[in-house]
Amino acid sequence: MPAGENNKIYLDYAATTPVDKEVLKAMMPYFSEKFGNASSVHSFGQEAIAAVDQAREKIAKYFNCNFAEIIFTGSATESNNLAIRGFVQKYNYTTSKRSSTSGTNRGHIISTKIEHESVLEPLKELEKAGQEVTYLPVDKEGLIKISNLEKAIKDTTILISIIYANNEIGTIQPIKEIGKLLEKINKKRKENNLARIYFHTDAVQALNYLECRPDWLKVDLLTFSGHKIYGPKGIGGLYVRKNTPLSPIISGGGQEFGLRSGTENISSIIGLAKAVELALENKEKNYKKIFDLRNQLLKDIIKDNKIAVKINGLCNDCLPNILNIRFPGINNETLIIALDQAGVAISAGSACSSRASAASHVLTAIGLTPKQVKESIRISIGKNTTKQEIKKAIRIINKYEKLLI
Ligand code: PLP
Repeated sequence: MPAGENNKIYLDYAATTPVDKEVLKAMMPYFSEKFGNASSVHSFGQEAIAAVDQAREKIAKYFNCNFAEIIFTGSATESNNLAIRGFVQKYNYTTSKRSSTSGTNRGHIISTKIEHESVLEPLKELEKAGQEVTYLPVDKEGLIKISNLEKAIKDTTILISIIYANNEIGTIQPIKEIGKLLEKINKKRKENNLARIYFHTDAVQALNYLECRPDWLKVDLLTFSGHKIYGPKGIGGLYVRKNTPLSPIISGGGQEFGLRSGTENISSIIGLAKAVELALENKEKNYKKIFDLRNQLLKDIIKDNKIAVKINGLCNDCLPNILNIRFPGINNETLIIALDQAGVAISAGSACSSRASAASHVLTAIGLTPKQVKESIRISIGKNTTKQEIKKAIRIINKYEKLLI
């Protein structure tokens, strides 16, 4: 059954996904029958904490990590904020306590120009407060160069945060290679009495399609989100390797091993664990189906188009579900509205930036002019997309493209 109501075609799965039926089924009892507060001592509370424990256990099993290394948050935005702000807060506090030059011992952070806003905004705020941040550039396909990363590392570097798969163009960064490199660099730094560099990745868009086990990637912090993997909205997770310095950014009752206070959102935690299970168990099958549909879409859009459409950032190292396309001479907002009225839902890129209608920093970083950015749309396919939907969507897109030029 296609997602979306009636015969509308939803091609915006990178923005959000519908909750899987099995996920919803697993969640249902925790709204009403099993409604206890996980911090309560009585049996209702015990039932709730047991459910949270089981969900954490399940995710830890799929990530091949320890139970206490999985932290539930309210969104991937919060997970990214916790990974960055929480790390810096703990690091600056620990070093200022050790050093006589209190407060001036801030470490250096490396990230990229194509991170999600939930990484870029906390970094910008930290910069305002005196933290030093380097943003690595990307090439026209949206890839960073490992040699640039190596050059950017300083004696003072403490954290590297790099998005695993980009939400606008789908480019996959070489996280495992970077992880291996950092392992070597950190060995040398230890011999030279330099601070260890910690490694965070935002794996929100990657989890459906790519290997995300933190030990395999050699990352210390890994962000994931419920609603991008057919789970509920308003739930996120953060893998935190044991002994990674981290302070809470939300304080209170001390839930989540003291790293994220607030009464546990039991139904969503259960939903997230079920969504992780389904995503990881069906990864290969979904990858193949979606990759074939994406290639069909690409071929037919190029073949049947009156104007020469351009593909933004598509390369071998890309997610199978995202296509970012430029229609020269056509305003993307006009096209998106026309397509929506014709029953096809697509977007201009990141859900948050398109609402604010800000020019995409990702497309700008891969070298598009402001005019070219305004001509670009993102089509993203999901596991519910059918061949018929793709065929119909191509007919509609190509019809409107002709009407609009
Ligand atoms: N990181 C990436 C790569 C995303 O695509 C998104 C969602 O748009 C987020 C983080 C934020 O996720 P959430 O909506 O769970 O806060």
